[in-house]
Amino acid sequence: MRPPSPPGAAPRLGVYVHYPYCAQRCPYCDFNVVQPGPEGRPDARYRDAVLAELAVRAADYPGRPPAVSLYFGGGTPALWPASDIAAVIEAVDARLGLVRGAEITVEANPGEIDAAGLRALRAAGVNRLSLGTQSFDAALLARLGRRNTPDDNRRCVDAARAAGFDNLSLDLIQAVAGQSLAAALADVAAVVALGPEHVSTYELTIHPRTPFGARADRGEVLTADEDTQVLVYEATRRALRAAGIEPYEISNAARPGREAVHNMLYWTMDEYLALGAGAHGFRHCPDDGGGVRWENERHAGRYMAAALAGRPGVRAEERLDATALLDERALTGLRLDAGLPVDAALEAAFGANAARLEARGLLVRSPGEGRWRLTEAGRLVLNQVVAELCG
Ligand code: SF4
Repeated sequence: MRPPSPPGAAPRLGVYVHYPYCAQRCPYCDFNVVQPGPEGRPDARYRDAVLAELAVRAADYPGRPPAVSLYFGGGTPALWPASDIAAVIEAVDARLGLVRGAEITVEANPGEIDAAGLRALRAAGVNRLSLGTQSFDAALLARLGRRNTPDDNRRCVDAARAAGFDNLSLDLIQAVAGQSLAAALADVAAVVALGPEHVSTYELTIHPRTPFGARADRGEVLTADEDTQVLVYEATRRALRAAGIEPYEISNAARPGREAVHNMLYWTMDEYLALGAGAHGFRHCPDDGGGVRWENERHAGRYMAAALAGRPGVRAEERLDATALLDERALTGLRLDAGLPVDAALEAAFGANAARLEARGLLVRSPGEGRWRLTEAGRLVLNQVVAELCG
């Protein structure tokens, strides 16, 4: 896999574009999603707003190396006309630059995009798809409130290959109440059979203010018990590894060289410029060794009005001083199987705690490589390890 940037290396830049519209809201989802009304989606206006925001924000990145990735997330950005996506790609390339062969990803839902739509995305310059397959069990998909079927999943992968995509990431949702270990592994086998370059597996999470959250509040059990979650998690990693799809992060696995360039930026504390309603960005502040994280205005209508007026709105901004940034580096870097690159600042801040975690079998320090990495046991209690490391 691509090694994390060594400490002190100039941060790489990626661009994230949020497209908030979905055909229908899934009952477990707490993303910034808008279900369009009868007037439909304001796609052209949204494109113009993103382009206007880019024109303003690009001024904050003068003379820096071109971006290594461009990621269209959502929402369901594959619903955006490919011509709008092409316009954004061209504008990012013109204003910030994109490295030759930059990873350009669009999230899509099987059953919501046809062969012509996939060909149009490929022609627009998109070279990677992240497909919300989620399961290959029709009953489970229905329980999750998904619109796609197992056949949609297979047809979409076939059509994507026919359209020329050689980099596909497929998602699975696991740890759903009632899903046995055998059923979870059948899903993994179904994904593997489609030959993806990348697989993301997520435990079903219950968020407040969602329909699943309301059901959980009424006492309904929607997620698997903890023992099953651990069994499924470990067995999934083993099955993917056996298929040549190597786990490289807590929730992600890839064939060699196909790790997600864009997502790696999050885990290595590189930089990402956020465009679109509710998008999150991060950049370093070289002056004080800290950084700043921000979230754009979430409301799509207000976002568009402000961006089109040349004043893209920020809903929240968080300054991280150098100490807070060390905590973030530990939290994100330990997610990677390759581990967290350790420099003098991390060693001085957390070295004694790391030694205690190592003695308990949760962390391995590799002084030769200058990395700390989780053990299998540590990976199951990541949050606890990070809390104790940074405590
Ligand atoms: S399609 Fe994805 S983003 Fe849209 S509501 Fe469902 S889970 Fe959320």
